[in-house]
Amino acid sequence: MRIISLIFIAFITAALASSCVNRIRDSKGDVINECPVHHISFESIAVETVYGMPRRDSSASYEVSKAEFPYARTRSLRGCMVGPFSRFNKYDRVRACLDCNRAKEEYSE
Ligand SMILES: [Zn+2]
Repeated sequence: MRIISLIFIAFITAALASSCVNRIRDSKGDVINECPVHHISFESIAVETVYGMPRRDSSASYEVSKAEFPYARTRSLRGCMVGPFSRFNKYDRVRACLDCNRAKEEYSE
């Protein structure tokens, strides 16, 4: 019984790690593996986890963000569902275009 439980947990972990959460989709809903603006593959990076309703982290308008750095990810927004262990979750791994992150950072300076 214990081995079956371990196999089940390993299966669920593998399924979550490769789930649609890590996939990036374009505006049509198709899964994409590279940034259409910078033509480089998305990288898995660690970003700050943010709970609640944070302020915008960039002064760029929606149009500028969408045109110049559409796949920038500098933080992981977790919303208002804060659990008892949320304070231990300081960082999340997300997929992002590193050139989009650089462009967003340069725009904000
Ligand atoms: Zn990009």
